[in-house]
Amino acid sequence: MNEQIQGSNHLQVFDDLESEVRSYCRSFPTKFQRASGYQLWDVEGRPYIDFFAGAGALNYGHNPPEMKKTLIEYLLKDGISHSLDMATEAKEHFLSKFNEVILKPRGLNYKVMFPGPTGTNAVESALKLARKVTGRQTVMSFTNAFHGMTLGSLAVTGNKFKRRGAGVPLNHAVSMPYDGYMGNEVNTLDYIESFLNDSGSGISLPAAVIVETLQGEGGINVASNEWLIGLADLCKRYDMLLIVDDVQMGCGRTGHFFSFERCGIVPDIVCMSKSIGGYGLPMAITLMKPELDLWEPGEHNGTFRGNNLAFITAAGALDYWKNSQFQLEIEANAELIRSVLAGIVLSLPDLNGELRGLGMMQGIAFQSGIAERISAIAFERGLILETSGTDSEVIKIMPPLTIQRAGLELGLRILTGCIYDAAVENKSFAEAK
Ligand SMILES: *Cc1c(COP(=O)(O)O)cnc(C)c1O
Repeated sequence: MNEQIQGSNHLQVFDDLESEVRSYCRSFPTKFQRASGYQLWDVEGRPYIDFFAGAGALNYGHNPPEMKKTLIEYLLKDGISHSLDMATEAKEHFLSKFNEVILKPRGLNYKVMFPGPTGTNAVESALKLARKVTGRQTVMSFTNAFHGMTLGSLAVTGNKFKRRGAGVPLNHAVSMPYDGYMGNEVNTLDYIESFLNDSGSGISLPAAVIVETLQGEGGINVASNEWLIGLADLCKRYDMLLIVDDVQMGCGRTGHFFSFERCGIVPDIVCMSKSIGGYGLPMAITLMKPELDLWEPGEHNGTFRGNNLAFITAAGALDYWKNSQFQLEIEANAELIRSVLAGIVLSLPDLNGELRGLGMMQGIAFQSGIAERISAIAFERGLILETSGTDSEVIKIMPPLTIQRAGLELGLRILTGCIYDAAVENKSFAEAK
């Protein structure tokens, strides 16, 4: 009754009851009801094309039918739902399949750890393990890095606003310039090595280096293959562990299952979450080289490390990786995105847009501060599109990897219109001034 009086799409309950900390619902102010594939619908039946994909947790789209079917069957037969970290059939199935489909064909030999089911927990466990194994305290991280919201992860995160939220000093970390941070002419690895080499630099030898191969939250900054290979080499030469945070770029986002496959490096530790559960269900894994697995039983514990519903869908998601077909589809989609974005940048020279990204994680950086306006117009036109970067200066195009061609084309057409209209607004505003 109340709902009818207020209008079914009212957001009053959230304003009244939910903490001010809520964020995405402010950029996309409607009440969502259902979703399928690359689309969502709100309570008024309005469709939206999803170019955000749960920040990378929905690489396989919303409610993928095969995984849904397997999950429902598992629920109906009273399969284990929660199991702490006890051995279950569902976990066994995931582990074996992950080894067969992902690790073995890539010649990778990792032990799999299940931390709490979030990205930041995978990162915390990686940092702990690196410190334990090396007996050193400092971890090197990079400018504009994002690794999560808990204290250890925040200490290796760049963003000032997020860091300030900690309320305590964030220590035992040292931030160094990411690839390209000092301009195209400077190889930041040389700069970093000069610190490691110099006993007067004020930096003690780090336990590990934690890196994203492509910084998603930090502005869609891509590290070059050469730089990543050089970084892996630097880690070897100075006996530092290399941790790749693949929480957002893993599971195919940049074209391969692991984002580091493009340059052939083999990290010592890999953090995964977001899409690893396949269905948007909470799950995380930390991969480590077997010789690093020096954990004592229970040393990094957690109640929800046995989310068996996620193990079921995570195993289902691995079917996408049984052959190279999916990878080819991602590549084709990536090319379409790239060509449309390049066309936009070329036809609007006044905006000075800069193409960013790789695979199905691409975007345009704008100097003029219109990225947030573009996102707002896009929402009005039924397209969910986020911004990224310290000043939200980059529009971020990250649809589900499984998006159909027609959906991708339509979304890109809407996006193009939004950018043109935001550019016109921007121009008339500048002229009025
Ligand atoms: C999202 C993200 C995290 C944190 O994951 P949560 O599940 O939000 O804790 C860590 N690292 C990267 C690169 C991420 O994108």
